[in-house]
Amino acid sequence: MRLGLDIRSDFPVLAQQVNGKPLVYLDSGATAQKPRQVLEALDAYYRHDNANVHRGLHALSMRATDAYEKARARVARFINAADPAEIVFTRGTTESINLVAQTWAAANLAPGDEILLTEMEHHSNLVPWQLVAARARAVVRYLPVAGADAEHGLDLDRLDEFLTPKIKLFAFTHISNTLGTVNPVAELCRRARAVGAITVIDAAQSAGHEPLDVQAIGCDFLAFSGHKMCGPTGIGALYGRKALLDAMPPYQGGGGMIENVEFSGSTFKPAPERFEAGTPDIAGAIGLAAACDYLDGIGRAAISAHDHHLGELARAALDELPGIRVLGPRAGSPRAGMVSFAFNNIHAHDVITVADQQGVALRGGHHCNMPLMKKLGLPSTARASFYLYNTEEEVAALAAALRKVVKFFG
Ligand code: PMP
Repeated sequence: MRLGLDIRSDFPVLAQQVNGKPLVYLDSGATAQKPRQVLEALDAYYRHDNANVHRGLHALSMRATDAYEKARARVARFINAADPAEIVFTRGTTESINLVAQTWAAANLAPGDEILLTEMEHHSNLVPWQLVAARARAVVRYLPVAGADAEHGLDLDRLDEFLTPKIKLFAFTHISNTLGTVNPVAELCRRARAVGAITVIDAAQSAGHEPLDVQAIGCDFLAFSGHKMCGPTGIGALYGRKALLDAMPPYQGGGGMIENVEFSGSTFKPAPERFEAGTPDIAGAIGLAAACDYLDGIGRAAISAHDHHLGELARAALDELPGIRVLGPRAGSPRAGMVSFAFNNIHAHDVITVADQQGVALRGGHHCNMPLMKKLGLPSTARASFYLYNTEEEVAALAAALRKVVKFFG
């Protein structure tokens, strides 16, 4: 199967016009569209099996429990986790990272300890660490982003300078949602391990786009969101090495996570139940498993190649436009399927409004990367992000829409 045109019929939302033009959806970095296979899985669950999990002995409850736990095993397989118990269902990347910050970090950080992040982190892999560091009187450090305007990657030459034995935890993104940079996650984990630091990978932009194998990468934790990988909103996962998860204190208290409760105190189930208080998003987990099936049916290596090709094509097309600054890796360096750019003297919001009139959906602003944008001296950029249903023709439509922007404001 060819990606792009051949699979668009799986995505009902794409078959519409916006402002009288065929929809060109280039905002999958914010959230991906859903194939009918995922919509049908959600519908089938609610139509036939809906019941609460874990606490019931009737047929529907057993079916719902079975489907929920099968979904956990499916997600484990998706990232090659050794044990389904290493998967905690969460609301998404943000909640997964907060879970690690509130539990592992709160229990293991002492005053003066250090947390290493990078300058390209999304706020959801930055603010949780600032909060926990303030409480623990720990210090947050940032590995710089380096390079001239056109080539923003991590300054790996300086990594040893930052990775001192004081660093207890190193959290970094796999793919930058602003630059499109693809970080060498296995190497970063290996170098962190050498100084005894725990690693946390933000895989929000990579989970549905690249083959992922947590055992080969060698990370301790990995966080991702269902909605960016063709799954439903409101569901995501935290992968954590079993020994670490079992040693972590609970995060939220409630039903489903306890072993025994007395008026005088409670004991807790092992991971992952310990971290899933209350009724979970059962339908979401089932929808997420359907998204894993869908993406693996196509193959993430093929999806990655397709995304990278469109990202490269877009970068080359945008480089031709007058007065434009394209962020991220140069030709030849790995670039995910996204391109962020800024025009001299044209605000990103104006770019997006004119593109929208042409049916082209882009995103603009600081991309939840405020400190990085300040470092780059940009208040905002516009971003086009690509996924398996996008086509080369849509890259051409993007370039045509941007030529209109230049003409209109130029
Ligand atoms: N990290 C990165 C790199 C992201 O792009 C995003 C979403 N924009 C997040 C984290 C947060 O994901 P969510 O809002 O689904 O929790």
